[in-house]
Amino acid sequence: MDVHRAGLTMAQWRQLIDEAYRGQVTEPITNIDDSRGSHFDAIFVGGGSAGRFGAAVLRSLGGRALVLERWPFLGGSCPHQACVPHHLFSEAAKELDQAQALAGRLWYGEFDPKAASILELVELFRSQRSGPHAHMNWQSAGQLDIEFVVNAEATVVDASTVHAAGRTFTAGALVLCTGARTAIPPVPGTSLAGVFDYASFIENLNYEPSRIVVIGGSKIAVEYASFYRATGTPTTIVSRGALLSTGGPGRMDDDLRRFVVDGMRLRDVGLLEHSTVTRITGEHRVEAVEVTTLDGPRRIEADFVLLATGEQPNVEPFIDALPVARDADGFVTVDSRMRTSIPHVYAAGDLLGPPLEMFKSRRSGTTAARNIMGTDSEFHYADIPDFLHTTYEVTWAGLSEREARAAFDDVVTIQVPPPELAPGETPLPMAEGSMIYGFTLPERTGFQKCVVDARSRRVVGVHHVGYGAKDAFQYLHYLISRPGGITVDELGDMNELYISPDYFIGYARLRSGQAELTSM
Ligand SMILES: Cc1cc2nc3c(=O)[nH]c(=O)nc-3n(C[C@H](O)[C@H](O)[C@H](O)COP(=O)(O)OP(=O)(O)OC[C@H]3O[C@@H](n4cnc5c(N)ncnc54)[C@H](O)[C@@H]3O)c2cc1C
Repeated sequence: MDVHRAGLTMAQWRQLIDEAYRGQVTEPITNIDDSRGSHFDAIFVGGGSAGRFGAAVLRSLGGRALVLERWPFLGGSCPHQACVPHHLFSEAAKELDQAQALAGRLWYGEFDPKAASILELVELFRSQRSGPHAHMNWQSAGQLDIEFVVNAEATVVDASTVHAAGRTFTAGALVLCTGARTAIPPVPGTSLAGVFDYASFIENLNYEPSRIVVIGGSKIAVEYASFYRATGTPTTIVSRGALLSTGGPGRMDDDLRRFVVDGMRLRDVGLLEHSTVTRITGEHRVEAVEVTTLDGPRRIEADFVLLATGEQPNVEPFIDALPVARDADGFVTVDSRMRTSIPHVYAAGDLLGPPLEMFKSRRSGTTAARNIMGTDSEFHYADIPDFLHTTYEVTWAGLSEREARAAFDDVVTIQVPPPELAPGETPLPMAEGSMIYGFTLPERTGFQKCVVDARSRRVVGVHHVGYGAKDAFQYLHYLISRPGGITVDELGDMNELYISPDYFIGYARLRSGQAELTSM
């Protein structure tokens, strides 16, 4: 189906995507200016955030980009099965947390766990997700003037040739952007009905879970377990190590982690750390998960298991034709210009391995595009701001206190609540999203820490649990990681929009000018 210059409206795109996803439209949907032939400056194989953003920038720079995508829409896994449902669930988790904690108080009735349905929210998402999908296609075809084929699997032939939709396309450069999927652990029982990963959970859930086991110890495990538990469903996490303790970029401050994990315990999320799943059992459907814990073997009954066990790259569409260098986990290795080991072949996004984040996908795609168009451009993602959800928003940037103490002789911290106060002794920090907790359950308002190198007076790390501070962290990360950084005195000279969810400006002001900085 040729839609080039058809000027499809949002509603028409939405209908077409829905029909294609239901299998009623099976042919490729082509938005190509055939008058210009089949040769491009670059072909982006995979139309997720890496491919779509890369193509948009290549087009902005005057190049001709083609995106090839097997789903009937551009945007990839984020709006389809990953970030967008995750944010919907996390917002629900926050609301449900408050409804449970304040049941019978203020305007909250008694909490009815049957009223909050996991299945209902998944069905709501499934029924509405083609709205964002349609926007991506509409924007890409119209506003961004990107050429693309969707609803067609692509196969790479060589470093300049790709087959898709029964056609052969050539380009001066290829950008591999095929993403990643869950790495299924080698545990018996993972193919039983009732065992899901983040993608099949969205696609296939058709019953209301009543007892849940989540396998894994990092972001997805914590985020989904928090949501499931907030609906009132008994939920246990089984994690090989300590929860949220994976090293490398994205590591958490110890106090931040403690507040998060204690908060999950307080909310009755079952936590089995340093424990290994040996078997998932059941006749045809999952019935239980067998685990070796530090205290011996355990059997946890469950009718729903989520595998949040890390990811593996989707290399199948190109690896035979292009055996690019890869790391020990199979992820494609690139230099800081996103060049693979094969000339004129670039890679971007989740295909490059952790951290698996949108900003990295988008920026690695756009970095590849700039270099292809002859603009020298590098992207280093070792130092990242990061976040996750529990029933809170948890955000951090820069160094943890432990890392700062290893790097500098004299480190001070500004912490709310301060270490000398017990949980609940102060309602601070409280701001957007935590005001009601501040006046009812003050131990639930959140936690913040600012880490300062006292000698240079530079802020080197910021850490936050609460609500509404994520935007601030995007800019705080820029300020603390730019050359020269930002001192506690400069931070204290900024104008805060009081009451703001992160108290760093106000607290920095209380300390600015102090000759010998001390912790508070
Ligand atoms: C549950 C979950 C929650 C997340 N939440 C967040 C979040 O809140 N914030 C955040 O920053 N990140 C989040 N992420 C990470 C984020 O979703 C990814 O980093 C990002 O979507 C990766 O983009 P990508 O373009 O590399 O891959 P994808 O978006 O996966 O795109 C790859 C595309 O390639 C296509 N493709 C594959 N093979 C072929 C082929 N042969 N032919 C044609 N097309 C093909 C696929 O259909 C897909 O559309 C989350 C991830 C998960 C799993």
